[in-house]
Amino acid sequence: MNKKRVLVVEDNMDTYELVKFILEKNGYETFLAMNGRDGVNAAIKQMPDLIIMDMAMPEMDGWTATSIIKKRDSVTASIPLIALTAHALPGDRQRAMDAGCDEYITKPMDLIELLGSVDQWVGNPQQGGEISSSGQTTSSQ
Ligand SMILES: [Mg+2]
Repeated sequence: MNKKRVLVVEDNMDTYELVKFILEKNGYETFLAMNGRDGVNAAIKQMPDLIIMDMAMPEMDGWTATSIIKKRDSVTASIPLIALTAHALPGDRQRAMDAGCDEYITKPMDLIELLGSVDQWVGNPQQGGEISSSGQTTSSQ
């Protein structure tokens, strides 16, 4: 079976391990980039089905990486991107949405909420294998 691939861009290993645990337990494949610059490169080279993006990171922050991915071309722009951040202020949420994030989840994160969001964007691989075109929600409107 073709597993859905999720790129996690996150500089905190504990957070990555949690995300990896809940997603891999539910049939996803995950891979890691540890800063925004590596995240942009991984997005372009690996074309994941979805990106989970931390905002506060060394080298290049998540806002910058997101806007590069979303403005580069229509192919990378079409990858659903969930922002993951401790920045819970309204201005930070707006900044994430302005950068092109499709959804925004605050830390400390609720793993079930995160899984639900991932399922919604790419379709849950455990719910019947092949995903019908009608059940796929990959648009980034
Ligand atoms: Mg961070």
